Amino acid sequence: MSDSIRALVVEENEEGKPAASLKELSISDLLDEEVLVKVAYSTLNYKDGLAVSGIGRICRKMPMVCGIDLAGTVLESRNENWQAGDRVLVNGFGLSEVHWGGYAQKQKLKTEWLTRIPDAFSDEQAMAIGTAGYTAMLCVNALQDHGTEPDAGRILVSGASGGVGSIACLLLAKLGYEVVAASGKADAKDYLLSLGVSEVIERDELDRDAKPLEKELWAGAIDSVGSKTLATILAQTSYEGIVAACGLAGGFDLPTSVMPFILRGVTLRGIDSVMAPQTRRQRAWGDLARLIDTNDLAHVYRIEPLSNIKTLAKQLMAGEVTGRIVIDVNA
Ligand code: NDP
Repeated sequence: MSDSIRALVVEENEEGKPAASLKELSISDLLDEEVLVKVAYSTLNYKDGLAVSGIGRICRKMPMVCGIDLAGTVLESRNENWQAGDRVLVNGFGLSEVHWGGYAQKQKLKTEWLTRIPDAFSDEQAMAIGTAGYTAMLCVNALQDHGTEPDAGRILVSGASGGVGSIACLLLAKLGYEVVAASGKADAKDYLLSLGVSEVIERDELDRDAKPLEKELWAGAIDSVGSKTLATILAQTSYEGIVAACGLAGGFDLPTSVMPFILRGVTLRGIDSVMAPQTRRQRAWGDLARLIDTNDLAHVYRIEPLSNIKTLAKQLMAGEVTGRIVIDVNA
């Protein structure tokens, strides 16, 4: 087995700022965890964009191998639950924050972080779904657990052309919901319609100062934007509707009032994918395997080499990326 591992490492530069570069590591450099995995693919998520561009203080330890998720094959295991040859994925659990992550050709991982890749998906397809798709499924599961059936009314998805938003649109449409997508990208309309949404509205219709209550438009919503957008969505959510909030692409503030909660019984459900328990992860990945026709996935992702990661991260941060980017860590 070759000892050399190419990885994207963030370290502090001379000015004390985080700086990313491709490095050659060896297996002995990896942290001592129970399972050694040969990584095939990772993905580029919003959090990866922040970490690789050094914009957000995502990496809380240095040096840090970035990549919040990964898919690959177990090479060696000191735990009886995992054997060489098992296909595994990891979403979150602090990868790229406090533990070394998926932008490496091999990685050592804790057993409790590992989820089996459903047989329905190749490694590449599992990462086409990735943390964004798994988070989208957690949001859809939250709507379902709230009792929001497809006949309840229209469901709004904000940040719709992004990673979480696009898979949320696809999943909701598959389940028979009427989906309205909010997007700031005029050229993403055809793409969103191809995912099964019935209407696309402008991001600006939501990204404004909201009244405490507005016309009831949505039986439910999935929001990856936050800030004024989330406040407007809450003000427009129907009586006893639900908003699953998972992101902050538009800001982490929430300029709202209690009115949607106390006069319409609206539920604001926070979604965290990083530390979600394995039972919730397995349900989500099982649902993804049932719902996603792998032919549909071809529309939502493209593969890029790890060698191009810094350029891609800049594009993501500039809001220039539509759909999912799967990172081939061996290219
Ligand atoms: P992407 O960058 O792929 O998508 C974000 C989308 O938000 C953009 O494509 C854009 O869509 C929209 N957007 C709206 N307002 C803005 C703005 N001011 N600046 C930039 N984009 C904006 O990110 P992801 O889909 O990977 O993640 C979305 C959010 O969800 C992020 O904040 C991320 O941190 C969070 N997240 C949270 C998780 C959790 O566990 N809670 C897990 C995964 C992601 P459009 O042009 O269509 O409007």
